Amino acid sequence: MCKYGTYKLLKVNYRNLERCIDACIANEIKELNENGIITLGCCCGHGEHAPVVLVNEKSIKSMLTLGYDYDMLIEYSNVDISGVHQFKLNTGCKTSDEINKWSIEQIEGDLFSGFS
Ligand SMILES: [Zn+2]
Repeated sequence: MCKYGTYKLLKVNYRNLERCIDACIANEIKELNENGIITLGCCCGHGEHAPVVLVNEKSIKSMLTLGYDYDMLIEYSNVDISGVHQFKLNTGCKTSDEINKWSIEQIEGDLFSGFS
């Protein structure tokens, strides 16, 4: 798949943190960051749901300008985070073919498997 745990290490612009990003969406997240979008989280969906990215409030306008579909406001009931907005990504695992394409056996270079 992009099986759970097939990641690419990426330094994101949110607090300059190094994060494990689902391999099949890592390039798109990098591009968003280069466009000044503050990405707070993301998931490729692993074939179970649509690939999504979470961005902060200030990035909404830029995301819409880039042509992304607004999905929803994420509410954290228990956590001190507000203004987290979900957008659908263009890349990511949507079909089983795409999932297989990102199979762990085909991983090269800077990709690695984090968990099993
Ligand atoms: Zn994936």
